[in-house]
Amino acid sequence: MNKAVFLDRDGVINRERGEYTFKIKDFELLPGVAATIKTAKERGFKVIVISNQGGIAKGLYTVEDTDKLHVHMQGLLSKEGAPVNDIFYSPNHEVTGASLDRKPGSLLFEKAAYRHNINCEQSFMIGDSLRDIEAAEKLGITSFLIEPNSSIEFIVKHL
Ligand SMILES: [Mg+2]
Repeated sequence: MNKAVFLDRDGVINRERGEYTFKIKDFELLPGVAATIKTAKERGFKVIVISNQGGIAKGLYTVEDTDKLHVHMQGLLSKEGAPVNDIFYSPNHEVTGASLDRKPGSLLFEKAAYRHNINCEQSFMIGDSLRDIEAAEKLGITSFLIEPNSSIEFIVKHL
């Protein structure tokens, strides 16, 4: 089985702006993220993004906008030799109805674990919101709550 480092997106990989980030011009990769992803992969971890994108349900942007942004993100990370292994996101939000895939629901973690044959007990999650942590802990993933836009380099000493 594989091990994984799961990452929230906004506030962990790219700068949390206090509003939805869906335009390429607003996407700012945080310092140290690419290096940390690279190290995690070198140490045998898959790196998987799990993100809530409730702005889609609210009609603020589309799945196409989101996918385009993720191509851009992967391009920036690839330039540093650190593309993530997979990206899962929930387009849902309570405004349009409950869903199991939106964190703190754990469905996207379950899908990721199934697709990548992940042993959750040997895996980690970094998020900047309590719902990130709640979702991951449902599957026994060791989780770290950070301040938005703070360094994730500490994870390296756990890997
Ligand atoms: Mg976040």
